[in-house]
Amino acid sequence: MNIRDRILKRCLVALTKREYAGVRICDANVNDSDDEAFCRHVAQALELIQGADPRRFRLVTKELRFIVNQELWGSCGRYLRGIHACSVDYGRYDFARDEQWYLAELARLIIHDATHGYLHSRGIPSSKANRLRVEHVCLVEENRFSQRLGGRFAANLEEFHPEWVEAHYRTPWWTRLFRLLKRIREEHKKAQSSRRNREAVK
Ligand SMILES: [Zn+2]
Repeated sequence: MNIRDRILKRCLVALTKREYAGVRICDANVNDSDDEAFCRHVAQALELIQGADPRRFRLVTKELRFIVNQELWGSCGRYLRGIHACSVDYGRYDFARDEQWYLAELARLIIHDATHGYLHSRGIPSSKANRLRVEHVCLVEENRFSQRLGGRFAANLEEFHPEWVEAHYRTPWWTRLFRLLKRIREEHKKAQSSRRNREAVK
């Protein structure tokens, strides 16, 4: 493990709010008002995987050490191999609209990132040459999990769009930075408004 990952790992250990089956649930985004809900929903998503799909749950606990809430520039999640972490941009999930649906979406993301971990452990890290194939395998695993859930989850499987994956990777750094700052601003505003609401209740 390099020095950057070692520092990152220490920070995440310090930011750990909860643990589920050895997976640390950490909050590193700017919005303090979502910490409790994030930890609860991640624990529930892990519980959902454990109940519906024990084999993939074993994979998750083997491959992921951390599940971290943080703003991301262009997706709901990201896998960090160096520290075996799944980053989640929790603010993008609309739990108020449909809690069960977004819980399944969160569980799918966790399985997606655990599959990245599994492939890496098997000597297949994601690279420019194979990223489409790797992302496709991860999506297939997500869909297999949805099929195990059955009902409306199995009826709405996600299609693979290679052009979306390519567009994501081809995004220049300045666009990524701009979008990340925009996401951080959005979460900062949510935190402010939640603080105002809490003060109004007092
Ligand atoms: Zn992926």
